[in-house]
Amino acid sequence: MEGLDLSTQIPQALDAGGQMLARHGIEDPRTEAALLLAFALKKPREYVYMEPDGYLTAEQSETYRQALEQRARRVPYAYVVGKREFMGLEFFVNRSVLIPRPDTEILVETVLRSRCEDQGSGFEGGTAQSLLDLCTGSGAVALALAVHWPELGLIMGTDISDEALGVARFNAERLGVSRVVWEKGDLWDAVGERVFDCITVNPPYISTEDYGLCAPEVRCEPRLALWGGVDGLDYYRRIAAGAGQHLKAGGKIYMEIAWNQADSVRGLLERAGFVSEVFRDLAGRDRVVAAWVGHPKMAEIQGV
Ligand code: GLN
Repeated sequence: MEGLDLSTQIPQALDAGGQMLARHGIEDPRTEAALLLAFALKKPREYVYMEPDGYLTAEQSETYRQALEQRARRVPYAYVVGKREFMGLEFFVNRSVLIPRPDTEILVETVLRSRCEDQGSGFEGGTAQSLLDLCTGSGAVALALAVHWPELGLIMGTDISDEALGVARFNAERLGVSRVVWEKGDLWDAVGERVFDCITVNPPYISTEDYGLCAPEVRCEPRLALWGGVDGLDYYRRIAAGAGQHLKAGGKIYMEIAWNQADSVRGLLERAGFVSEVFRDLAGRDRVVAAWVGHPKMAEIQGV
């Protein structure tokens, strides 16, 4: 591997790894090298700083070398180590699924907060019975809600990709969640005639132009999970067109959006007869749109 002197002593291995990742343009090379070294040693990260006299076995050295090589090729860290933390839970990830983002925790948190606050909706008193998570990928949203909202009865997670559903099922098993039903299908096709109190979705929403600007790491992730058509809004059009048939009276749909999509997404929803509300992330950027079926008269009054 490109002149890397990978000593088996921990401090030298850390230096060599950090230098290698720096040469490949990794932003925080020493931290990432420490994380990968800890991964190879199967120890917490602090260990690599606390054991200056420690050694790597041949097997650990080889694991570290392979991890560094992948990361140098800009494979995302989460794929290299095969996991990502989301809402306090550990999810297995591989190249079949989008890596759960902190941004998406806002979606989950918004739903969890609304379950108590909403009056006159299917959520009253936190009693929503059923939840549908479209484009579930690794199952992060569906499973985080299942764990953090024990009163929730039926949960369904859907995805167009068999491989993604395999990952979601594996995560459900690992987290000990057995009450999620997984269905394969293209958006609403997976749902049949079923109706739900609550729907969540983090659809692909990156436009063609923005996809071209994505970091190499993001381009390792499934394009199918990221690219939302020329203007990034294709899935929201299909969501707005179908959500009315799949929400119970008083039910709500929560969608993750990009920071600059709130107006377009709300416009699509309003034309389809929905009332909507935007939620922001901690940096003050628009991140989630919630929508519910408006009273027909209201649409008239608002002229939409
Ligand atoms: N937030 C993701 C990104 O910017 C996109 C996720 C999505 O398309 N749903 O990489």
